[in-house]
Amino acid sequence: MTIPVDVADLVRLVRREVAELHAELPRNGLVAWTAGNVSARVRGADLFVIKPSGVFYDELTPDNMVVCDLDGQLVEGDHAPSSDTAAHAYVYRHMSEVNGVVHTHSPYATAWAARGEPIPCVLTMMADEFGGEVPVGPFALIGDDSIGAGIVETLRRYRSRAVLMQNHGPFTVGASARAAVKAAVLCEEVARTVHLARQLGDPLAIPPHHIDALYDRYQNAYGQPERPERPE
Ligand SMILES: [Zn+2]
Repeated sequence: MTIPVDVADLVRLVRREVAELHAELPRNGLVAWTAGNVSARVRGADLFVIKPSGVFYDELTPDNMVVCDLDGQLVEGDHAPSSDTAAHAYVYRHMSEVNGVVHTHSPYATAWAARGEPIPCVLTMMADEFGGEVPVGPFALIGDDSIGAGIVETLRRYRSRAVLMQNHGPFTVGASARAAVKAAVLCEEVARTVHLARQLGDPLAIPPHHIDALYDRYQNAYGQPERPERPE
């Protein structure tokens, strides 16, 4: 497959977007070495742009990003795509509303994943962003569609746009790649805060009707639907 001429400009824009968003992963303390990746769908073209495998964050540029089809096959790029490409591709094939996917092994979120324990909804910011707990997805090995299927079947049962894959780490999705990066940053933040609260006692659950009210207000009342900003 080659990239049609009429989407080439769009691909260039998405390459730049994905390259720039990768800077947020080390900036927010979500990644070590080269682990962790962002991808973005090229809307209307059955393509997505993802990080090349094994390239350092400060060496990422629009030009060395990789373009894949929705089966995860390389379409354009000088490097191999991220080893997590199959999981990203599976999400894009099965969740048409998703235009961005992020995966990290950010330490606090991954500590919850290591225990196979969902992060309970005990913070208003969790109700705002995730609409409830951050759930755990199944243990799955890399190499086939197991990780992607585990992500999709878990996210379909929750409002959360973040899932903690058991013994592995968080995957987040969004209506844009930027929204998925924001969910990855906030997932790590709430994982850390709830962990700290646990050291001091028992965090208080937020009643479901209050979670619903917070989620509805935050998702509908602030900013643009794709880019809700927290009020100051
Ligand atoms: Zn991983």
